Amino acid sequence: MTIPGQLTPAPRLLLGPGPSDAHPRVLTAMTTPLLGHLDPQFLDIMTETADMLRQVFVTKNRLTFPVSATGTAGMETCLVNLIEPGDKAVVCSMGYFGNRMIEIAERCRAELTTLKAPWGKVFDLQQLRDTLKAVRPKVLGLVHAETSTGALQPLEEVGKLCREFDVLLVADCVTSLGCTPLKVDEWGIDAAFSCSQKGLGCPPGLAPVTFSDRAVAKLKGRKEKVQSWYLDLTLIESYWGGTDRAYHHTAPISMVYALREGLRIVLEEGLEARWARHLRNHKALKAGLEAIGLSYTADPDCQLPQLNAVRIPDGTDDLACRKRLLSEFGIEIGGGLGDLKGKAWRIGLMGHNSKPSSVLLVLAALETVLAGAGVKVTPGAGVAAAEKMYTG
Ligand SMILES: *Cc1c(COP(=O)(O)O)cnc(C)c1O
Repeated sequence: MTIPGQLTPAPRLLLGPGPSDAHPRVLTAMTTPLLGHLDPQFLDIMTETADMLRQVFVTKNRLTFPVSATGTAGMETCLVNLIEPGDKAVVCSMGYFGNRMIEIAERCRAELTTLKAPWGKVFDLQQLRDTLKAVRPKVLGLVHAETSTGALQPLEEVGKLCREFDVLLVADCVTSLGCTPLKVDEWGIDAAFSCSQKGLGCPPGLAPVTFSDRAVAKLKGRKEKVQSWYLDLTLIESYWGGTDRAYHHTAPISMVYALREGLRIVLEEGLEARWARHLRNHKALKAGLEAIGLSYTADPDCQLPQLNAVRIPDGTDDLACRKRLLSEFGIEIGGGLGDLKGKAWRIGLMGHNSKPSSVLLVLAALETVLAGAGVKVTPGAGVAAAEKMYTG
């Protein structure tokens, strides 16, 4: 066998549903020499990372750390630890990732009730109240930012509702953390999970999670062992947080360096400023996309700033357009998932990539590609509409 050549992929601008481009400072931090995973210096780095993670989740939860795997492992960590076989659970789905949560809850052998909303819509408080009242579950699972449809589920009032019915609220914040307002303590979220590669501007590989005292109490009161050894928080807890810091698994050292740097960048910018930046760039992109005739899949009152899902014009070849964006412009956008496969494009403006240059580049490229595919677009219309949003 001949040895493959050195890695030299063509540069890309990652404007899909994730991964988004890592911040250059994050990539530099990853080249820091390795430490042992029990080295006192590394234990300090873990403590600093968890402290910053608490600030970004806006929580005082002691049990807050990154699981050593991707966002889905964060989802699995929350559900396997909080659901015991036979526990009543309600999982709400308004898209692809809600469905994934349902599948995992089934595998936890929950006595499961599912609540579904049409793709592009979200749940209202009354619907959730009626369901909790009828089912009286122990756990409610909801997706905060549904990346498959571009819809934002309001969570501000859901935690209060869950306390009224003594239910633990588990929220999928994989696409919201670092992009849109998320206040774990104030909103009464009991378990939240996220990822490193979307709003935090790091490579994929870590899944930040946080558990409230109520969630920890449920964990401590379990009758059965957690079905997963690797994700069992009663075991991991002492490595990330306890005083004995006992070996559980080898932490992915370079990824922890990356997350630490990514979190430093988030806190330097400030959460409010970061949320405002995502909104500003979304508004410009939205004006541009609508000016070239693309309409959003999510309802107007629940559109995610960081993930813009739009319908592909009738008769347009999805794959051919995305291929041209990639090969000629070096821009990656996402295709549709599940019900929206072949019907939608998903344009992410996440973390480091939420900036005017991404907006203007992707609009210019889309105008060219759509015109080439025979769609009627006025050259420059999208870019001009976005420019106008920036200049006021
Ligand atoms: C990306 C995503 C996940 C899965 O995360 P991975 O890092 O791909 O495992 C889960 N939920 C939502 C809402 C997501 O956008």
